Amino acid sequence: MAAAVNKSLLWTGLIASIGGILVLSLVSRRILAPVHSLSGAAQRLGQGDLAQRVPSSGPAELRKLSDTFNTMAENLETAEQQRRSLTADLAHELRTPLSNIQGYLDAVHDGLLEPDEATINTLRQQAAHLVALVEDLRLLALAEAGSLALNLQRESLRDLLQESVEAFRPRADAGGISLTLSAPGELPSLEVDRTRISQVVGNLLENAIVNTPEGGEVRVSAAREGEYIAVSIADTGAGIAPEDLERIFDRMYRVDPSRARATGGAGLGLTIARHLVQVHGGAITVSSIVGQGSAFTFTLPLNRGDC
Ligand code: ADP
Repeated sequence: MAAAVNKSLLWTGLIASIGGILVLSLVSRRILAPVHSLSGAAQRLGQGDLAQRVPSSGPAELRKLSDTFNTMAENLETAEQQRRSLTADLAHELRTPLSNIQGYLDAVHDGLLEPDEATINTLRQQAAHLVALVEDLRLLALAEAGSLALNLQRESLRDLLQESVEAFRPRADAGGISLTLSAPGELPSLEVDRTRISQVVGNLLENAIVNTPEGGEVRVSAAREGEYIAVSIADTGAGIAPEDLERIFDRMYRVDPSRARATGGAGLGLTIARHLVQVHGGAITVSSIVGQGSAFTFTLPLNRGDC
């Protein structure tokens, strides 16, 4: 009797052990397979293959890890693509004015062109275009590295806007565009870098005027919104299509590259404007309807301590 009980206990123990080993091996395979796949993919990613992705499988925690890995790999791949296209765009931007300068100098050298005032003016314009482009790139690099030094002073935003609007008035008049400013007199003063905020306003005004046809309107307005002042520059111009609107603040993004190149823009203005507003603790947004116009709005905090 005792022998029979012992035997059955032995069998039960044996079956339980085998069952345990089987379950353990199944569970560890379920866990280890995705871990292996992740570590292989991470290794290949580290060696520069940014197309690496892993299937989302296994227990919830591992699936989350795989999804996080895939998002990281995708972001790295996008950043790399953007870096490559930036270099190509940059080379193109620099090549055009440089080739023009070279072409003119060759023509003068070969006696095909007189080195008269008109020729020299063209050369100066091309050189000025290059200097402005390089200055924009320097500013952008500083802003992106977070090393842009601000010269903060308490300023009247109303005066600053008035000054910018007056600077653009001759351009607006020449284009038959009505340019107006509406800002309440009691608008509180703000701690800002005057040069940088004037640059933001100037860039938005320039874009608005360039993109608005004769007979159109450009309206600049400022108002207090809670702990911020919101400045809006609205035009009755061509408007921006929704697919362009999403990318309008990207580096070197232009709605119509060929036309913009003729007018001298390199697609850096809005990227720089966004950085300059952000370092002041504000934000910039845009709304637009094709055929009706666009409105760019940026905010600046009343109290920089809040930002
Ligand atoms: P750029 O220096 O080439 O003008 P921006 O970064 O200032 O570059 O502008 C990016 C793109 O957005 C340009 O192609 C420009 O034409 C378009 N854009 C900007 N503002 C407006 C506007 N108010 N109306 C229509 N298009 C605009």
